[in-house]
Amino acid sequence: MGPDGTACPSPPAVRPATHPPIIVLGAGLSGLSLTCALLDAGVRSSITLIDRRRGYTRDRTWCTWETADLRFPSAVTHRWASWSVGGPDGVQIATSHRHPYVHLAAERVYVAALERIDAAPTVTLCLGESVRDAVCGPGPGPGPGAPVRVTTSARTLEAPLVFDALGPHSPLAAGAPPDRLDFAQRFVGWEIESDRPVFNPAVATLMDFLPHAGVGVTFLYLLPFSPTRALIEHTAIEPLAAPAVDRDAALAEEIARRWPEIRYECRHRERGLIPMTPRRFPTERGPGLYTIGAAAGAIRPSSGYAYSRIQRQVSAVAGAVATGRPLPGDVADPRTLLLDRAFLQALASSPDPARLFQAAAAMEPDAFARFMTDAGGPRDVLAAVRALPVREMGAAALASLAGGWGRAGRRGWAPAGDGPGGAERPRAADPATASGRVPRYP
Ligand SMILES: Cc1cc2nc3c(=O)[nH]c(=O)nc-3n(C[C@H](O)[C@H](O)[C@H](O)COP(=O)(O)OP(=O)(O)OC[C@H]3O[C@@H](n4cnc5c(N)ncnc54)[C@H](O)[C@@H]3O)c2cc1C
Repeated sequence: MGPDGTACPSPPAVRPATHPPIIVLGAGLSGLSLTCALLDAGVRSSITLIDRRRGYTRDRTWCTWETADLRFPSAVTHRWASWSVGGPDGVQIATSHRHPYVHLAAERVYVAALERIDAAPTVTLCLGESVRDAVCGPGPGPGPGAPVRVTTSARTLEAPLVFDALGPHSPLAAGAPPDRLDFAQRFVGWEIESDRPVFNPAVATLMDFLPHAGVGVTFLYLLPFSPTRALIEHTAIEPLAAPAVDRDAALAEEIARRWPEIRYECRHRERGLIPMTPRRFPTERGPGLYTIGAAAGAIRPSSGYAYSRIQRQVSAVAGAVATGRPLPGDVADPRTLLLDRAFLQALASSPDPARLFQAAAAMEPDAFARFMTDAGGPRDVLAAVRALPVREMGAAALASLAGGWGRAGRRGWAPAGDGPGGAERPRAADPATASGRVPRYP
């Protein structure tokens, strides 16, 4: 159904030679961002956007470092030029006026995207519709390939170009076996209003380490919106299978311990689990069916950040669609991915894992911000390698880094069964046979 409750039409029959229709499965951050990016790039195809959700609420908090290409800048509510990481080596405060840490309210991101989409007569947003399957045609050959057939809870529809933006647990992904380095970032956050000023609104706390049992780290994350208002999250980065913790109780205890003098009201609560896996995700499931966002592995395995990476990816994809270039195959620089894997490997074995994060955060602040958002280049990746405690990251991790450095190419994501973690299989045709098939769109 459309947002107004009416039945969603199938993609209109447009002349395929000029504006072949596009279907975007999933209207979360990456599906909405891609649709806006396609519009910005001047793509005039009809775009059908499908999501099972029935509306948009404040369902998460996005933070990232501001770079020139930040999408939805109107959604930014706060900027912090300084951020801190505190742990065994003391508290480090970094400052970057060029790339401040920014908070984007989810509800504002959604409104900005929906306004853009509402104003575009070529886009149809269909909510309350679950995607069940997407089957690719037999494959390439000269000219446009057979369309991808999508089945939802409401209908079957087809288009030559379909994007899977269904998130990290896309139902279109074949079940991938777990990786021994699968981590999860679990958190509970309270936005509180205190009866007296106790927060320093000039510095966002990225990590303030707390005692942690077992593999991983636990820390407090604090976004000070004013001297009396802050979002405080009790967070752990730990193996996916780690036992559950009562984070609300732990958070209440920590607030009482740090600020025993305050009385406060909790204005908003959020909780979440961000998968942090070094598995390689396919960016192409078969001819005409591409993944974007978390479904393409955009969530950074070492940090859980994905906002900037998603924006970078959708801009590149939209540019390629608009100009008829091959769609970009990599959601991340393969060197960054290898470094992230080495980081998780070290996290899994280090006796003092907090030091790993502190070492990364000790990078020169502009370089750190660029590295965290993929806005830099090899020089920033090298700066990260220099900053990290390479001895602690271990010989095995470094070997994997060195061995893989040149391995991943333009389509760097390993296809089915090709090495560790490359276990997701395309739904229909082998992506290898499909690569180089360029959907030509005006
Ligand atoms: C709680 C939380 C907080 C985060 N905070 C940050 C942050 O501060 N900074 C940062 O950089 N990253 C953050 N991330 C990571 C990342 O930015 C988000 O996960 C981001 O939302 C990923 O976007 P996506 O569109 O790929 O997936 P999603 O936003 O998850 O969107 C997937 C969409 O697909 C829909 N869908 C799923 N299955 C179906 C189906 N079968 N049929 C129809 N629709 C379906 C869902 O309803 C959803 O709308 C956070 C993640 C979470 C979970």
